[in-house]
Amino acid sequence: MTEILSNFLGGQWTIGRGTGTALYDPVLGDELARVDASGLDLIGGFAFARERGGAALRELTYPQRSEMLAAIAKVLQANRDAYFDIATANSGTVKNDSAVDIDGAIYTLGTYAKLGQSLGDRRYLLDGAAASLAKDGLFQSQHVQVSVRGLALFINAFNFPAWGLWEKAAPALLSGVPVVVKPATSTAWLTQRMVKDVVDAGVLPAGALSVVCGGSAGLLDALGHFDVLSFTGSADTAATIRRHPAAAERSVRVNIEADSLNSALLLPGEAPGTPSFDALIKEVAREMTVKSGQKCTAIRRIFVPEAVFDAAAEAISGRLAKTVVGNPRNESVRMGALVSRAQLAAVREGLAYLKQHAEVLHDGDTHALVDADPDVSCCIGPTLLGTRSTDSADSIHDHEVFGPVATLMPYRDTAHALTLVRRGRGSLVVSLYGSDAAALGNAALELAESHGRVHVISPEAAAVHSGHGNVMPQSLHGGPGRAGGGEELGGLRALNFYHRRAAIQAAPGVLKTI
Ligand code: NAP
Repeated sequence: MTEILSNFLGGQWTIGRGTGTALYDPVLGDELARVDASGLDLIGGFAFARERGGAALRELTYPQRSEMLAAIAKVLQANRDAYFDIATANSGTVKNDSAVDIDGAIYTLGTYAKLGQSLGDRRYLLDGAAASLAKDGLFQSQHVQVSVRGLALFINAFNFPAWGLWEKAAPALLSGVPVVVKPATSTAWLTQRMVKDVVDAGVLPAGALSVVCGGSAGLLDALGHFDVLSFTGSADTAATIRRHPAAAERSVRVNIEADSLNSALLLPGEAPGTPSFDALIKEVAREMTVKSGQKCTAIRRIFVPEAVFDAAAEAISGRLAKTVVGNPRNESVRMGALVSRAQLAAVREGLAYLKQHAEVLHDGDTHALVDADPDVSCCIGPTLLGTRSTDSADSIHDHEVFGPVATLMPYRDTAHALTLVRRGRGSLVVSLYGSDAAALGNAALELAESHGRVHVISPEAAAVHSGHGNVMPQSLHGGPGRAGGGEELGGLRALNFYHRRAAIQAAPGVLKTI
């Protein structure tokens, strides 16, 4: 049996009572490690985090907490090579895809370390100016934002074991709130190793960072009235969480990042060969293949004017055909594996479902796997589907296949295109491609109500844009409706979730002291 990864809770490394659940190499099929959280003292561990970790963090000013984030980034940077090895083994990703997760995490920490320095030498935030409540301003209302006096529990998805932790932990720790992370079981190793390195480096106060690897049983029961919960994962689990008494009865503040049918839209008038057409083709092929399409922000639906449907199908298929799929240890491979056999089965099942409403334009099964046994590995080639029955293809607008799969669809005019994009019922991101600045601006505003982020590629942005699916700490991440209704990142906006807003009503003499 392989090693059971330790949990870190209540300031101690501890293992569960059982034999645990195995983590596998999704290319070679080998067992890598085990995780087990059964029998942990969650109530005691959470109390330690709140009382010791929370108190120590709240003692620090924002710039002091910023220095802590910078120190974490330094620890991660020093151990970066080990993280890439773990990602290759446990996530089956090629180096560039591992970098999206690992370097993305370090960059996000660095960004919040800088942002925190701008908040001044204080431990709470003023929210707007004071408003007068009495004649001559003798009694006023001043809003403040103070650190949440609980802990932040993160329940994370399998696809970003590194970034998924730090994009949440950076704003939480900067806000003075201790963190408990429960990574998804299948890829928990990288999260656990990062926490271990940071704990061992001693850059955080006791109780500020804990990790629970294994099942989720009991975690929500251990949450108290002032804790917050940030969840990333499927819409089904999100629904279970929303119904739990922690959320329904104890008002635990919950942020949900769920699945999403993100779109790419080529605006009217962009013929094949124009920079906008080419930018769309390139980005779609990239988004379908980065991390084997296992990104919550990946493009799932592609909308083009009717006249260019065939040309777009040919151009995207041409690019996908060149993608070498297989073992990420082979230098020629550009796209590695899905994360588990369960995910491979879910992608195959999802593809079969979508194929009922769409034809195959490029078949992932035509890709020979390099250095990977199809009976063992979780590798699958990218598949482009297409349908001209855009209005009746319900499954295409409803079902997220979490893998290298997208569907191309034609539209009649701009109004039709916007209606089709909105059929996703709320998404994380839509990208727009075109050369008419006014038309792009209009479409962006039209779609802002149903998307957390609108990524607009005009020709001058084509070479410098940050990528449809790349979540930048400066911009909002999250989306309304089926995307979960959550909000993360967006620069200092992320701190709102980890602060409590209160109005202090007092005479100006008192308000002056805060
Ligand atoms: P999942 O099955 O919902 O699992 C997500 C996390 O929830 C895992 O840590 C899982 O633990 C835990 N969990 C499972 N059942 C639970 C319960 N009853 N109570 C509390 N926690 C529970 O999702 P997934 O299949 O791993 O992730 C893929 C999905 O995540 C995709 O749909 C994708 O779109 C979405 N996603 C969204 C974002 C975003 O930012 N919006 C980012 C990444 C992924 P175990 O692993 O131990 O079961």
